Amino acid sequence: MTSHLADASMAVDADGAPADDDAAWQDDVRAGVRHVRDLDSLPLSPAERAAAQAAATRHKVRIPKAYLDLIDWSDPADPIRAQVIPSPEELAEQEGELDDPIADHAFSPVPRLTHRHADRVLLFPTYQCAVYCRFCFRKESLTSIGRGFSREALEPAFAYIEAHPEIREVILTGGDPLSLPDKALAEIRARIEAVPHVRLLRIHTRVPVALPLRVTSGLVRALQGRLMVTVVTHFNHAREITPAAEQACRALRQGGFVLLNQSVLLKGVNDTVEVLEELCRELMYRLGVKPYYLHHGDLARGMAHRRTTIAEGQALASALRARLSGICNPIYVLDLPDGGGKVPLGPSYVEAQDGETWRIRGQDGQVRAYTEIVGDL
Ligand SMILES: *Cc1c(COP(=O)(O)O)cnc(C)c1O
Ligand code: SF4
Repeated sequence: MTSHLADASMAVDADGAPADDDAAWQDDVRAGVRHVRDLDSLPLSPAERAAAQAAATRHKVRIPKAYLDLIDWSDPADPIRAQVIPSPEELAEQEGELDDPIADHAFSPVPRLTHRHADRVLLFPTYQCAVYCRFCFRKESLTSIGRGFSREALEPAFAYIEAHPEIREVILTGGDPLSLPDKALAEIRARIEAVPHVRLLRIHTRVPVALPLRVTSGLVRALQGRLMVTVVTHFNHAREITPAAEQACRALRQGGFVLLNQSVLLKGVNDTVEVLEELCRELMYRLGVKPYYLHHGDLARGMAHRRTTIAEGQALASALRARLSGICNPIYVLDLPDGGGKVPLGPSYVEAQDGETWRIRGQDGQVRAYTEIVGDL
């Protein structure tokens, strides 16, 4: 175990209570990469350094120290490195790549809110993150909007939620909502739970992955109230599952929150069945986090080198289905450009249909007949 893991576990209470120590995660942020110039201290070749600096000028760079320490620098293809260190390939943007790959802006009736499905909205309380991922599909917004939390900026979004009784779920996303101070989170939570038709608060975050010490008892308390709370984490590789991440997830579960995970399928990071299988098992069995979605790579700019084909993704989804229990299995989806929503891309098991008889491929690969027998009620 490397020393930062030992440090991280020490910040944690022996009986599993979350850390109360804001200094621990603040140190982790301060000692990490916060500016382009901090890349100078990393073991990159001069050519890599120049490319990284060019790419980092285009898209923000930030890496907390403990996450940075997960990188094995002797491996140029290290899966942690691939997620956060700017690379020369990012500068090779392709025709057809998009600033807003899932049309957040087209479905935004008021600033900082996206409403595409009747019963749920995305709310963007901040456009800052604890870590900046090179593959992020919102990276253009993070750069161009680039502002943190302000109470006034969210007022039109709250008014919109109040005025739309069909909204049952409010999804805090961004940016990373858990990069906000406890006080701001508590205020946002209180404001949302005061709207009687809202039933569930969802938080999409990479903090339990990239800055797990931020999950303090104060953070957990800030989110507790009337609403059912679901925290959707974003682990992409089993190497991200450290003792500190485990502790953060335990604190969230013990706080009464439901934990789900979404991963992005990334070439060279997690595009093998072994890597995905281990990730999904460890998520469920070690962290108590249910794998929810495996996202096909969207058309974020400069990411062609990290995208797989859909056929490759389907083969992986099919292999996972055969190897993993139902609760460990994520749904392989594509978030369509232009606002078509998230569509399952998993392989179809239906081979043919003839009247009431369907020919369906089993998990063992054999095709079997199933004949419908439906009577009158
Ligand atoms: C992803 C997303 C949601 C949430 O979708 P689920 O399938 O419920 O997880 C809601 N609104 C928008 C605009 C989204 O992009
Ligand atoms: S934490 Fe999420 S929003 Fe922030 S850069 Fe990473 S993927 Fe994008």
